[in-house]
Amino acid sequence: AGLISGVSEQQTLEELALLAETAGAEVLAKVTQKRPSKDPAYYLGLGKVREIAQMAEFLGANAVIFDDDLTPVQIRNLEDIIGTQIIDRTTLVLDIFAQRARSLEGKIQVELAQLQHLLPRLTGKGVELSREGGGIGTRGPGETKLETDRRHIRRRISYLKRELERIRKNRELLRSSRKYPVVSLVGYTNAGKSTLMNALTGAGVSANDRLFDTLDTTTRALVLPDGRKVLLSDTVGFIRKLSHEIVEAFKATLEEVKESDLLILVADASNPAVDEEIATVRAVLKEIQASDIPSILALNKIDKLDCSKPLINDKNAVEISALKGTNLDLLLKKMCVLLPQTREHASLLIP
Ligand code: GDP
Repeated sequence: AGLISGVSEQQTLEELALLAETAGAEVLAKVTQKRPSKDPAYYLGLGKVREIAQMAEFLGANAVIFDDDLTPVQIRNLEDIIGTQIIDRTTLVLDIFAQRARSLEGKIQVELAQLQHLLPRLTGKGVELSREGGGIGTRGPGETKLETDRRHIRRRISYLKRELERIRKNRELLRSSRKYPVVSLVGYTNAGKSTLMNALTGAGVSANDRLFDTLDTTTRALVLPDGRKVLLSDTVGFIRKLSHEIVEAFKATLEEVKESDLLILVADASNPAVDEEIATVRAVLKEIQASDIPSILALNKIDKLDCSKPLINDKNAVEISALKGTNLDLLLKKMCVLLPQTREHASLLIP
């Protein structure tokens, strides 16, 4: 059971609650505070922190989750006053990633990100800080547990990095022998990517309301109306406030997007902030240098809307309902038009 707290906007706090539930927590209460800036010592104001401490005790919460990254000092101070486990946003997201990662590469990426996030936050209460300039060979008696932990973590980090490098090289080899064009579904978590994947391929990829069901790329074959066979790939879902360290950690997953021949950006048209949702995904695509790939904007969940005027004026947009199967024929036609003709595939069409 957790209590959720943030200085932030209501919407990201709602998403944080959804993330916490995805991680298996029961959200007991949500607290926000309007502040001009974050408090360096407590993140929130001290008065608010005391209020949270009382609430946590009253509700029997065993963790308080913050909608931001916290500094080591803030974590220690908050632990002192609140007395429960203190979890920051990145730790929560990585915890979910850790639960969901299935492939070896995914697992390594998650562990790497967790250790990198943990390292600067290892200030263990009551543990002496290491003296500067201890020199080589000082390990052994007298060395604090903190130092041993840090050294262990650093060694593990460099091992994981080497492993990742090796796996990536392997994947590149596999990729160069790739036979079919790849169409990737990208978009926010919960936008309906797995549902669309199911609708298009009947592949039985699980679709439910929980976030991150698609952490690892899932790929299915699909035959387009023009007879071309493509691989349809469901990618990791984007979330709001994706911190830089997480983007780094999932670079390989995102790099698969970069190698796609066509992207289908799935957005939830019933989200009042759908424009922002699309802009965020596009910004990330740009960041990973995937913005030159032809893309279709699939405005999903139109069954939830009652107005019939076009949502977005974009010739590459299609309004669909993955759930009801609405306009999937239009989407498939657009895929045929926008998917580049590669030489091998073109030769199949020429008699
Ligand atoms: P993903 O995280 O992007 O893979 O999203 P999912 O495919 O798991 O869908 C998230 C939720 O939205 C599920 O509860 C789906 O049933 C629902 N959903 C997906 N597409 C539609 C749609 O076209 N209309 C409606 N009403 N709900 C949808």
